[in-house]
Amino acid sequence: MAIADIKATTVAVPLEAPIRHSAGAHWGRFVRTIVEVIDDEGLSGFGELGGGGESAEAAVEAMLPYLKGHDPLQLEQLRWKIMAPTVSIYNSRMQIHAAIEMACLDLAGRKLGVRACDLLGGAIRETVPFASYLFYRYEQDGVGGETTPDQMVAMARRLKQDHGFHVHKLKGGHFHPDHDVEVMHALADAFPEDSLRLDPNSVWSVEESIRVGRAIAGLNNDYFEDPTWGLDGMRRVREAVSIPTATNMVVINFEHLVQSIRQGLVDVILLDTTIWGGLRQAHKAGTVLETFQYSASVHSSGELGIQLASMLHLGAALPNLSFAADAHYHHLTDDIIKGGKLAYRDGCIDVPKGPGLGVEVDRAKIAEYAELYRRTGGYPYDRDPGRPDWYSIMPEKHYADPALHRAAH
Ligand code: MG
Repeated sequence: MAIADIKATTVAVPLEAPIRHSAGAHWGRFVRTIVEVIDDEGLSGFGELGGGGESAEAAVEAMLPYLKGHDPLQLEQLRWKIMAPTVSIYNSRMQIHAAIEMACLDLAGRKLGVRACDLLGGAIRETVPFASYLFYRYEQDGVGGETTPDQMVAMARRLKQDHGFHVHKLKGGHFHPDHDVEVMHALADAFPEDSLRLDPNSVWSVEESIRVGRAIAGLNNDYFEDPTWGLDGMRRVREAVSIPTATNMVVINFEHLVQSIRQGLVDVILLDTTIWGGLRQAHKAGTVLETFQYSASVHSSGELGIQLASMLHLGAALPNLSFAADAHYHHLTDDIIKGGKLAYRDGCIDVPKGPGLGVEVDRAKIAEYAELYRRTGGYPYDRDPGRPDWYSIMPEKHYADPALHRAAH
């Protein structure tokens, strides 16, 4: 088993409608790069990373001279070959490593007839729960346009009906914080049996975060996710609000993890199979958290089916997955895997049963969505199509549609 070739293809897969967040928006599609690692017998494994284009494809394929002849099962060597610290300070290849590692786990698993989660120590659960992940949306072709508390409750109701979610996560920070507070209370009234999360992506000051945290403290909150930026900011919020805090933004590597655990800075860490540098790195971080009795969850960075499978294998293998995972997945209209999108059942997705990542790519779909990418190109996710002159400049925050907030009061 030896790596013979690496190929990268950028695709664009449509969303139901553009989704809005505190730093901009996803403009109606996700752009992802599909990474294929082929061994000397012609067997392929697949990985995925966010973004794309010719330079991203070239950066992935430029790893071939480093890895030609490499045994895909030698995963720790793979990490050092691509991510050695002396190289990383000039040229971070973390996301590239994550995608190639994902493909190697897929390839080696297929060769050995074992699942990716087996290469992490095996599954301790066969189904992974997810949160509904509610976004304010722009309208597109008659779909979307939700902003008011009633509209957000209707969105949650539809998602719960279709997929069975028991947890609702609001992507806040786009409008004035008082609007998010109103939506959270409306969700709590509509779904008294379900738990909630609010995540404004670090956009509020410490003082604003404390004010919002106290305003939603009586609700059935799982946690308060990244209200403010920085480890010390998160510490000060944690000291002042009664809700557990969570992050995928300030604890994103092992040095942060040590600091967070030693000083008790954040309660719940959302692990990501890309941001942490790969499925194995995310799993290692989870076991460190377990040692110190911290809970983990699984972060979503806007996945298609290959990355979703990596998240399912992480969720399967993490002993301390105490909270439902996140996924943007249900906002997509399609996927690039055979059989279409993986299905939610009672808010959960089953861990794939097949070897490797357990999903089969559909090459016709990859070709179709590579063509869509060629036609539509990338988009700046940190710009907002509804506010062309706006930039997210913290700490001076300019919220979208102040008229909406005034109208709501
Ligand atoms: Mg988050």
